[in-house]
Amino acid sequence: MKKVFILGSTGSIGVNTLEVIREFPDNFSVAALSGNRNIDLLEKQIEEFSPELVVVNDEAEAEKLKYRIKGKCELFIGERGFVEATKSADYDVIISSLVGFSGLAPTIEAIKRGKRIALANKETLVVAGEIIERLSEQYNAEIIPVDSEHSAIFQSLVGESPEHIRKILLTASGGPFFDKPVEYLKKVTVAEALNHPNWSMGNKVTIDSATMMNKGLEVIEARWLFKLPLEKIEVVIHPQSIVHSMVEFIDGSIKAQLSSPDMKVPIQYALTYPERFKSNFVSTEFPEIHKLTFFKPNLEKFENLRLAFNALKSGGNSPCILNAANEIAVENFLKGKITFTEISDYVKKALDEIEYENSIGLEEIFECNRKTRNYITSLINKDKN
Ligand code: MG
Repeated sequence: MKKVFILGSTGSIGVNTLEVIREFPDNFSVAALSGNRNIDLLEKQIEEFSPELVVVNDEAEAEKLKYRIKGKCELFIGERGFVEATKSADYDVIISSLVGFSGLAPTIEAIKRGKRIALANKETLVVAGEIIERLSEQYNAEIIPVDSEHSAIFQSLVGESPEHIRKILLTASGGPFFDKPVEYLKKVTVAEALNHPNWSMGNKVTIDSATMMNKGLEVIEARWLFKLPLEKIEVVIHPQSIVHSMVEFIDGSIKAQLSSPDMKVPIQYALTYPERFKSNFVSTEFPEIHKLTFFKPNLEKFENLRLAFNALKSGGNSPCILNAANEIAVENFLKGKITFTEISDYVKKALDEIEYENSIGLEEIFECNRKTRNYITSLINKDKN
């Protein structure tokens, strides 16, 4: 029986993880759950899965939940609560699925305890890839990707030697604006951007998919997960989202992992690896799919993808600046304060204006994140008021 800690159990990955756990009651139990403001759902999850510990980010909501659960489980509160809980809870696997930079600190605590990290929070590797790589080796922590593309590559590499990789091909759906002209992007509404053609995900990652920043972050994530230089990472547009990614080997042979898009497949694999468990979450009917198509990404139209490639090339604090500026820009787009194409304008401004630092430790990463968020927030307030 493996005990699972879910960081972000009320989000899309968290809810899917609980569906997987529900299928295998003899193999997995829930050690800890956590949420931000959706305490109604969190309370239901506590009733069903009886965790020993719960973390709530929002203090006011935590007080309400405390009253409702009346000592059924230990309650930790706020950002510090996430760190304390990952330090002290009794668990074997942690599903790291908080949104954005906030996932970094608790994931590091789980790494320091040598746990299996089922990593859905790509930002952890984007902002601190080198440090995470070093710490997971030092503490013998196992990082298994949950991101569908990285899970596909991870699965394609089972039984293969890293030196046999010619390149990896990260597939991207292209999002809802793949076949729209550049001018169209200027007038995109929040509702249109939230309407992803293939995947049902949280708001942040759905907007990132529409701007293609998500693929940019995934390129950086892949660089650290698979220890590959940028030249060996290629992005391919694949609108059907059936091929979840591919690996090309030095003899020209290519392996891919395919299925109808459903996050329960990579989540289950991260929990059961190296085993596979029988489940019926997806079936893939090729005669109904008819065709699988592939295209080159358009870096002129999707500026964010180009910015992400450049940030990875320059290294240092650039990926951290890219990520922090994007988080603030997406928040402001969702609030209707900035337009869709302004998201990449603000990311570019942050990369141009914030001082580049070549070698950075963990403290500098937290500082760079804070500085960039403040800079973009005040810039948007100045521009838009
Ligand atoms: Mg993905």
